[in-house]
Amino acid sequence: MKDYDVIVIGGGIHGAGVLQAAAAGGHAALLIEQNAIAGGTSSRSSKLIHGGLRYLESGQFGLVRESLRERAIHLRIAPDLVELKPFFIPVYRTTRRRPWQLKLGLWVYALLGGFAPGTGFGSVPRSDWPQLDGIELQDLQAVIRYHDAQTDDASLTRAVIQSAVSLGGEVLVPARFQGAELEADGVRVTYLHQGQTVQRTAHVLVNAAGPWAVHVARLVQPAIPIPAVDLVQGTHIVVPRRTTV
Ligand SMILES: Cc1cc2nc3c(=O)[nH]c(=O)nc-3n(C[C@H](O)[C@H](O)[C@H](O)COP(=O)(O)OP(=O)(O)OC[C@H]3O[C@@H](n4cnc5c(N)ncnc54)[C@H](O)[C@@H]3O)c2cc1C
Repeated sequence: MKDYDVIVIGGGIHGAGVLQAAAAGGHAALLIEQNAIAGGTSSRSSKLIHGGLRYLESGQFGLVRESLRERAIHLRIAPDLVELKPFFIPVYRTTRRRPWQLKLGLWVYALLGGFAPGTGFGSVPRSDWPQLDGIELQDLQAVIRYHDAQTDDASLTRAVIQSAVSLGGEVLVPARFQGAELEADGVRVTYLHQGQTVQRTAHVLVNAAGPWAVHVARLVQPAIPIPAVDLVQGTHIVVPRRTTV
């Protein structure tokens, strides 16, 4: 008899989603998080629930369709956390992608999204360009507007955790995963909680430790194959501009 069906390491959006799915499926599930819910990458993203426009260029149509479908679901079931925002693409004389190429891409984007609300796009009339606060007007040839969705990533993660807990999932914060031993029919997990070393057994262990996933995987005995992982990072620059277009 195991303590849990599933133990999840990491309280970011992925761990939260796994806990919610496990709990919704009627499984006894525990999530352990070392710092705070959404304390890692899931509070530092660009905060977009995007439809994957940029994946069109690499021909990943299935991914774009799935992203747009997920975006539509988020907009429907969490309107207080996810909302559509206008995006503006300025096209200058030297811009590599021409307006017709962008419009063709956006048309395919709308098609893959089933022409659902939020997939429309169009040109901003020249007379409205000066209202786009901060835009450089010299050599500007076109401005194209489309929509994508924005969220508060940390609030979204906490909302999924709350939903998981309401479905019977358990959450321990702070609790730091220290190691796991794989057994014939499951796994024995060791973590540190309130100064105590605790051991719990489960059928399944889910490593949702984000950028720490490789470190966590190295703590599993006997050693498991660890795929090569590249870490990515980005910089967000927020400027106080407004647009009335
Ligand atoms: C710059 C940037 C911008 C992005 N923008 C977007 C965007 O706009 N839209 C989008 O959808 N995605 C975006 N992403 C991707 C998205 O942010 C990530 O895919 C997502 O947040 C990863 O969530 P996660 O749960 O896997 O990891 P994390 O949120 O990092 O969660 C992992 C958790 O594991 C915990 N942990 C680690 N080790 C242990 C341990 N030993 N014991 C217990 N807990 C442990 C950590 O404390 C952490 O809380 C962006 C990513 C980056 C880097």
